[in-house]
Amino acid sequence: MILITEFMDDAAIAALRKYHDVVHIPDLADNPDELARHVESASALIVRNRTLVTEKLLLHADRLECIGRLGVGLDNIDLAACRKKGVAVYPATGANDRSVAEYVIAAAMMLLRRAYSANETIIAGGWPRQNCVGSEIHGKTLGLIGFGSIGQLTAEMAGALGMEAIAFDPHLPPNNDAWKLAARRELDVLLSEADVISLHVPLAPETRNLIGAAELASMKSGSILINTSRGGTVDEDAVADAIKSGKILGAALDVFGTEPPGRAGGARFKGVPNLLLTPHIAGVTLESNQRVSMLIAEKVLVHLKDCD
Ligand code: NAD
Repeated sequence: MILITEFMDDAAIAALRKYHDVVHIPDLADNPDELARHVESASALIVRNRTLVTEKLLLHADRLECIGRLGVGLDNIDLAACRKKGVAVYPATGANDRSVAEYVIAAAMMLLRRAYSANETIIAGGWPRQNCVGSEIHGKTLGLIGFGSIGQLTAEMAGALGMEAIAFDPHLPPNNDAWKLAARRELDVLLSEADVISLHVPLAPETRNLIGAAELASMKSGSILINTSRGGTVDEDAVADAIKSGKILGAALDVFGTEPPGRAGGARFKGVPNLLLTPHIAGVTLESNQRVSMLIAEKVLVHLKDCD
């Protein structure tokens, strides 16, 4: 049986059903006891980022051969425990890069134009034209923190729009061809030079709290910050403070330390101007959902066939 615990494109589920029993419970991530019960009979498990695949869950998964991740970040899966148990893990590498890169470009354009600062005033009957004069993206510097697959595609798109790209990625060798798309910078230099800063790192001990109050203070005045990577890399309170104080012009946050942040988590953003908040959807579009789902369905089918 193949167990799917979050949303997946219908055509990909139909492709799986041709060869296997499929149990699809889109909100199973919210119910760990039910999840543990169903995983007992699963030979493959397909998840997004909300299903926590812990060592404890794997104790129930004696038939499990592989896990398909409908996305790329693997921080919700205990990879060491999977290795120990001989469970293969397949991310959908590359399948949602374009959706994230387009989100970054769109957010950068709208925030530089201060598009999100006028809503409340206009709803209240005002017409704040003088306060809403923003900037063009052309000629601005894009600073990418993490220069892997998504960072590189974003640099390519930004270049086509007349932006200059710079990037910080200590793990990407200096002779990698990708550096043709962006100039290498140390983090402190990038923070001081970029007009738009966008994070594209995995969540790991070295990237946790990468951008806090001190880093925001060293950003260029009037710059903007975009985080589509993982919550926990950016201090959300510090971002709200930096916008309120006028240090930075705005921010787009698609990922949060706690998802969903809940009322208490959301309250920190109340009244913060020029702020775009989205519920972890930078990588989720109709197109990417189809690509990601089909890629994972294929990987799981091949794995189960090879292991027959
Ligand atoms: P990737 O693995 O191709 O690239 C990540 C890059 O980060 C690598 O080049 C790595 O060397 C670099 N890196 C690691 N530690 C670093 C550090 N301390 N400082 C600077 N760079 C560092 O991953 P990707 O496909 O480009 O995705 C990036 C992240 O975006 C993923 O980890 C995932 O969490 C997130 N993501 C979010 C969404 C969404 O919907 N919001 C969708 C897709 C991916």
